[in-house]
Amino acid sequence: MERVYLDNNATTLVDPLVKEAMEPFFTKMYGNPNSLHSFGTEVRPYMGLALDRLYAGINADDEDDIIINSCASEGNNTVIKSFYFDSVLNHKKVQMITSSIEHPAVSETYEFLEKLGVDVKWLPVNADGIVDPDELRKAIDPDKTSLVSIIWANNETGLINPVKEYGEICRENGVKLHLDAVQAIGKIPVDMQEVMADYITFSAHKFHGPKGVGGLYIRRGSTITPLMHGGEQMAGIRAGTVNTPYMVGMGLALELAGKNLDFENTEVRKLRDKLEDAILDIEDVEVIGDRNIRTPNTILASFRGIEGEAFLWDLNQNGIAASTGSACSSESLESNPTFVAMDIGADLAHTGMRFSLSRYTTEDEIDYTIDVIRKSVKRLRDISSTNSKEYI
Ligand code: PLP
Repeated sequence: MERVYLDNNATTLVDPLVKEAMEPFFTKMYGNPNSLHSFGTEVRPYMGLALDRLYAGINADDEDDIIINSCASEGNNTVIKSFYFDSVLNHKKVQMITSSIEHPAVSETYEFLEKLGVDVKWLPVNADGIVDPDELRKAIDPDKTSLVSIIWANNETGLINPVKEYGEICRENGVKLHLDAVQAIGKIPVDMQEVMADYITFSAHKFHGPKGVGGLYIRRGSTITPLMHGGEQMAGIRAGTVNTPYMVGMGLALELAGKNLDFENTEVRKLRDKLEDAILDIEDVEVIGDRNIRTPNTILASFRGIEGEAFLWDLNQNGIAASTGSACSSESLESNPTFVAMDIGADLAHTGMRFSLSRYTTEDEIDYTIDVIRKSVKRLRDISSTNSKEYI
């Protein structure tokens, strides 16, 4: 076995069909879609098709907006800072609510707003690792709360939050809801007629599209004060020449993700469960969160008595790519799985290792991975027990 890629929550392989669909927009149809000449106008129908695919992919209403941007980090910054800008413009003090298990693209944005004087409430997770809707209900002050931001599915544990209930609670209280849907899209149904969120963010490279392009869904009746000024693109909400090849790629990637959703929830899930069962067979190992409320591709496992870096290195030496944290910023403590897992009370005395599969993962790869993990854990524990007699 050459190499096995089990870090699909960090990024995914671009579907070859997506790559092929993007190709003509680099050297043939490269016009600026805002230009009035034929080089520009010939591109526009393809942007329309990409948008149709995005609307269909999340079951958005025609009256809703989808803003094409550079990534989900941009989308999250745009929504959260928009509410801050509005509070400044309207000379109104606001309170905003988020959770303790957000991706840094959300948590660090809120931390920054706190420095600017915004009152941010941080919701904890319950024993199941999810944000309890009752905690949200209690935290909302209908007179003050302007925005709630909660992650749909966590990037490290894969745990899925009860977002439908959040939508109902926010509606009842007249508060806007923003969901980071990056890890949900392509893995579980994302239906904007079912979930009453006002804003969701997503990123193509997490569902077999290209890196550097994302989307911000805005429900009809909700507004955004732009983060990027300087052009009328995207209805004036996001200035900057639209990246047409990537937008085309994202549209097709989302359509293909929709077609593969059943596969994700049957075949990918089966492989994930096979790997998980084998991991759980090893002594002193714990997997974080109930697999039935996790995205079908994700395992975050705690291996007692093993040092994370050594384990990661050992896996890598054997060609296996896994992760001890969110690859977006692996140096950051907050993005380490132990951070999330400790919050839900798991025993992660030594290391949390994330394995995330995709529709390209094969059974042979999983069998090979199981074999390598077993041997590696034994080897590392042997080393650690000779060094310290006993691991703690
Ligand atoms: N939100 C979540 C849950 C993520 O997992 C990631 C990337 O790992 C991001 C946001 C940031 O996405 P992007 O790389 O598109 O900025």
